[in-house]
Amino acid sequence: MNTIAWIILTALILEFALHWMADMLNLSHLKVPLPDEFRACYDPTRYRRSQTYLRDNTRFGWISAGVHLLAVLIFWFADGFPWVDLQVRSLGWGTLASGVLYIVILIALNGLLSLPFQFYATFVIEARYGFNRTTLATFVIDRLKGAILGLLVGVPLLSGILYFFETSGRHAWWFSWLAVIAFMLVIQYIAPTWIMPLFNRFEPLAEGALKKAIMEYASSIRFPLQNVFVMDGSKRSAKSNAFFTGFGRNKRIVLFDTLVHQHSTEELVAVLGHEMGHYKQHHILVGLLIRMLQTGLMFFLLSLCISQPSLFEAFNMSHMSVYAGLVFFGLLYTPIDFFSGLLVMMVSRRNEFDADRFAMQTTGGGEAMINALKTLSVSHLSNLTPHPFYVFLNYSHPPVMARIAALRAGMSKPTA
Ligand SMILES: [Zn+2]
Repeated sequence: MNTIAWIILTALILEFALHWMADMLNLSHLKVPLPDEFRACYDPTRYRRSQTYLRDNTRFGWISAGVHLLAVLIFWFADGFPWVDLQVRSLGWGTLASGVLYIVILIALNGLLSLPFQFYATFVIEARYGFNRTTLATFVIDRLKGAILGLLVGVPLLSGILYFFETSGRHAWWFSWLAVIAFMLVIQYIAPTWIMPLFNRFEPLAEGALKKAIMEYASSIRFPLQNVFVMDGSKRSAKSNAFFTGFGRNKRIVLFDTLVHQHSTEELVAVLGHEMGHYKQHHILVGLLIRMLQTGLMFFLLSLCISQPSLFEAFNMSHMSVYAGLVFFGLLYTPIDFFSGLLVMMVSRRNEFDADRFAMQTTGGGEAMINALKTLSVSHLSNLTPHPFYVFLNYSHPPVMARIAALRAGMSKPTA
């Protein structure tokens, strides 16, 4: 084992151990009593149920992550990487096609390993708590569509990147970067009209009190809202959500049908106020720019590593290639990915507070937002008392109690 191999091995094991430690702290934090704020929403039985849901998910997460880590290590130390390479090269397909095939095989192996876990999570855990609405047919069709879409989008992009790194020398990293940026923008643009309808039905929100309240609110904050859509989220889960898609004047807001059924009009307007707050405060644009910068950094580092013989020695490869270098760099990148992920989540948690405050200030008080957050937490059996270290490692949103406390603090302050 060379230094690169030790770095990768240590990073993989440390990350696993860190998450396990955070999980243990999180479970031990379940003894914190039910927050007063939620006394009226929960009876003791249902609250205990939310805690067993967390325990079940945590234990399942350990098994899933443990099996994945073990599989990677076995594949690595049983020389799986050079073996697949030998099979692919024996086909005599040429560098580009061989590269695409090599990477597609590895991704497919990983996907097959994940399949039983996704099945168990959907049909056992989510079903046990009354969340699952996915039929077996939907589950199978989703995976097939996902795989086909992945090939249609991924193969051309991957071919482009491999081509640049084969032929463009020191310019390869920023050629690839530009290609990925162009791809990200195109996907963002076509997602609402071409990709999402492959998986869900979107219908314009029916005319009525809710539509009127939403449109009036949007115009009160000068938000150029074209239309509000309702998505059949209930096709897969009883859980609910709302999100934003589209660019420029083509902006639309999507509400899950489950969300519309569970909340009052005031709560829904507050939730949309929060979503529009993200837009008004440029969180979406900044998020996109950060992802672009991360991609650029990754390609730059890739260009430094991809022709280092030690990277290939670490995986017992007798033959150096751009495509295998891409895969091994992906593993070497684990620690950087981990730290940049922590940073992104930290920024995201701060943005959530800002979006909540925006909703509070523009919808006439924070009470509706607080009620919406409570209803969401109870209906999703969310963990009300997560451990701070677990939040630091895993949460893109602040814990619900912190959000409610921030809203209450804002409400007691006179507005300037
Ligand atoms: Zn948000």
